[in-house]
Amino acid sequence: MRRLEKAQNDRRDFSLNRWSATFRRPERERAYLRQFLPQTQTQLRVALIVCAVFYVAFGLSDVAVLGFSDKTLLLFMARLLVAVATALGVFALFRLPQSIRAPSIVATAVEVVGMSAFMPVVLYRPHEIPWHAMSMSIMLVVVHLFIPNSFVNATAVSIATTLVFSLLAIHVGALSVSDTLTMTMLLVLVNTVGIIAAHRYQCLGRRQFRAQSILRHLSFRDHLTGCYNRRYMEEHLLEQEVERASRYPAWLTVIMCDLDHFKVINDTYGHPTGDVVLQHFAGLLRAACRDHIDSVVRYGGEEFMLILPETDLRGGVRLAERLRRAIADEPAYRDERRAISVTASFGVVAADFSVAGMGGDPRTLITRADELLYRAKSAGRNRVE
Ligand code: GH3
Ligand code: MG
Ligand code: MG
Repeated sequence: MRRLEKAQNDRRDFSLNRWSATFRRPERERAYLRQFLPQTQTQLRVALIVCAVFYVAFGLSDVAVLGFSDKTLLLFMARLLVAVATALGVFALFRLPQSIRAPSIVATAVEVVGMSAFMPVVLYRPHEIPWHAMSMSIMLVVVHLFIPNSFVNATAVSIATTLVFSLLAIHVGALSVSDTLTMTMLLVLVNTVGIIAAHRYQCLGRRQFRAQSILRHLSFRDHLTGCYNRRYMEEHLLEQEVERASRYPAWLTVIMCDLDHFKVINDTYGHPTGDVVLQHFAGLLRAACRDHIDSVVRYGGEEFMLILPETDLRGGVRLAERLRRAIADEPAYRDERRAISVTASFGVVAADFSVAGMGGDPRTLITRADELLYRAKSAGRNRVE
């Protein structure tokens, strides 16, 4: 039960780390990055290529200012370096399409190269510091908002390069005190606005992911017990497992189980107590199943279904027997005044898909398991058939 509670708490934990604008739970963050990976890769490729094209094209302004000189050539090499870094980055994204870390590494690396390549421009064209400050502001907006990157990396690149640029501009530009003040204030403004906007954007994406995840969860889980609901089983789960079993081919076992005389529990102790008993039973079923392999479905009110891939009849019966004993042995509800015990009946059906002609309608399995459950009820309940 503790494992189940922990799983439920983990599922609800979508909290964000305010400083890094990421999910606190690393696996949640990975799931988020994975879901948007194709989109991120496309956006990143477009952003980097656009930036590299402009970076090289601005070499024209070097020629206009410096003519065809050694300095122009050096600046051209620096601009070319940005194009090469972009090409390598795009190639890395192409080679590592499944990596969720690659986009932010590539984005950060190209940003660092791009920002560093800008510094020689400042150094060799010292009379245009106000223009450079304007370019710097645009580049900061690009880093904060246009190139998809992690919030922390983009912020670190922006702040570090703003500092380097400001010191360099002050050093080479012989700016007046008022110009220096205005330039610094403008760069601080761009960074502040950029950081706030990027933070909002990163948090918004994660909040939408949270809403989507919760809705998806609600659409295929039963609210009371956390088990899969019948609709999900009928529309997706059973067919998927039958198809998988046919493909291998392997055994597939289905267990139908139903609490005995559950109506009496409701009538005697009330519906809320009945709910607790149901939750206890569902908890036992889920705890006995293998994570990410078996599935527990709430089929009806107090009727549950277990789908057990790669499990033969002996394994299925053994599990059903273990569950039957577990539910009968331990009170399903206990308070200061009373302890309520219940029993359950089970119908187990197993199909060996390596036998020819085993395909067919997956619902046959359910019908068969239901018949066996009914037989267990008729034979006195608290039984496995
Ligand atoms: P049997 O041994 O033949 O299965 O008898 P039973 O009383 O368990 O079966 P029956 O079908 O007569 O009654 C099932 C009861 O389950 C009736 C219904 O009120 C109750 N039930 C269904 N869903 C819920 C629920 O979500 N919460 C509670 N507390 N009771 C529920
Ligand atoms: Mg019942
Ligand atoms: Mg029933």
